[in-house]
Amino acid sequence: MSGFRTLDQADVKSKRVLLRVDLNLPMENGRISDATRIERIVPTIRELTGKGARVILLAHFGRPKNGPDAENSLKPIAAALPEHLGASVAFASDCIGAIAQDAVAKLKDGEILLLENTRFHKAEEKNDKDFVASLAKLGDLYVNDAFSAAHRAHASTEGLAHVLPAFAGRGMQAELEALTKALETPNRPVAAIVGGAKVSTKLELLGNLSKKVDFIIIGGGMANTFLAAQGHKVGKSLCEHDLLDTAREIVAKAKEAKCEIVLPSDAVAAKEFKAHAHARVTDVGHVQDDEMILDMGPRSTVEVEKILSACKTLVWNGPFGAFELQPFDAGTNAVAKTAAALTQKGALVTVAGGGDTVSALNQSGAAEHFTYISTAGGAFLEWLEGKVLPGVEALRIKSN
Ligand code: AMP
Repeated sequence: MSGFRTLDQADVKSKRVLLRVDLNLPMENGRISDATRIERIVPTIRELTGKGARVILLAHFGRPKNGPDAENSLKPIAAALPEHLGASVAFASDCIGAIAQDAVAKLKDGEILLLENTRFHKAEEKNDKDFVASLAKLGDLYVNDAFSAAHRAHASTEGLAHVLPAFAGRGMQAELEALTKALETPNRPVAAIVGGAKVSTKLELLGNLSKKVDFIIIGGGMANTFLAAQGHKVGKSLCEHDLLDTAREIVAKAKEAKCEIVLPSDAVAAKEFKAHAHARVTDVGHVQDDEMILDMGPRSTVEVEKILSACKTLVWNGPFGAFELQPFDAGTNAVAKTAAALTQKGALVTVAGGGDTVSALNQSGAAEHFTYISTAGGAFLEWLEGKVLPGVEALRIKSN
C-alpha cells in the first residue's frame, strides 16, 4: 500500500512488537457478545507470531475514570483470546513498569502477551511523553492495527509511532485501502447513502461528501428535514425543524459542487412508532398530520437501486428507515441486497460503516457480500467527514 509502512516492510523476527489492537468489545453479563473485533486482529497476530515476533498487545477497554477497576480490566478478554487465536496468551496486570517489563522479558519468539488496559493510566489519553517512553521501553517496533481508535491522539494510538519504527497492521491496512478506494481514488460515478436519525449529527459528513461524490442519497429520519425544507408536510415524523435553512444550504452547496442530492419520493407512514404498526405507502407530499415517515417507499427504493446500478462505487452510512422495527426495515434491506448483488457481479465497490449501519446490513444478510464493512464507528465517520486521523497520519511515510 502506497503512503504507509506495512508489515511487508517490517523485520520482526525475535523482535518485541508492541501491537495496538481494538479489544473494546461489547460485553453482556461479563461475556463477549460480539467477537468481530477479535476476528479482525487475528491475521496480524498470526502473521507476527508466524514470523517469530514476540507480540505484546496494547489495548484500552471502556472509559475507566480513576485508575484500575475490575469492571474495565482486560483480563477476561485475555482468557477469551486463545480460542480465536489458537495460541495461548499471557496477561500482565499493568501496561508499564516492572510488572509489564517482567512479563515482556519472559516472552519467547512467537509468543503473545496482553497488557492491562492502557486507560488505567490517565497519561494514556494525554499522550504524555513519559508514559509513551515507558511503553516504548517494552518494544522494538510498533504496529497499529486499531483503525477504530486512530481518531484519538493517545499514547498507544499515536505517541508510540513517533518514537519506535511504526507500521500499519493488516487490519489497519485493509481499512485504509478500502477507504482510499471508496473516497480518495474511487471509480466514478460514486454514490453515498447517508441515512440515520438526524441531520445535526451529519453536517460535516454531508459537507465533505458533497465535494467528493456524485450522488448523496439521503434516507432515514434526516430525509424528513430535507423534505420539510422543500415545503412538504411531514406530520409527526422525526424532523429538525430548526435546520430547514441548513438543509437548503446543503442542497445548494452540493449543486455547486455538481453533486446531486437524492431524496425519497414516497414513504411508508404509520401513526405509531412500533413494530408491525399499521402502515401505508404514500407520496411524500401526502403525509397526514398524525402520521410519521418510518421508511422510504417502494418507488424510492427502485429509484435508489437505479442510481446504484449506474454507479461504480458506494459509500454507505445510516439506514433508510427505522430498521429495528419491522416492516420499516424493508427499504434498507432491499437496497442492501441490490448493492450486495452488484458487488458480487463486480459492478460496484461497496464500503459501509457506522454502528447502526453494520447492524442493519448484518440484519439484511447482505453484509458479507460488501467489499468492506468498517466496524470502526467514530474513526470511520471522521474519515468520511474529511478529518485527519492522528493515528493514521503518524504511520504515513514522510516524503522528506
Ligand atoms: P444514526 O445513529 O444517526 O445513524 O441513526 C440510526 C437510527 O435512526 C436508527 O435507530 C433508526 O431506527 C433511526 N431512524 C431511521 N429512520 C428513521 C425515521 N424515519 N424515523 C425515526 N427514526 C429513524
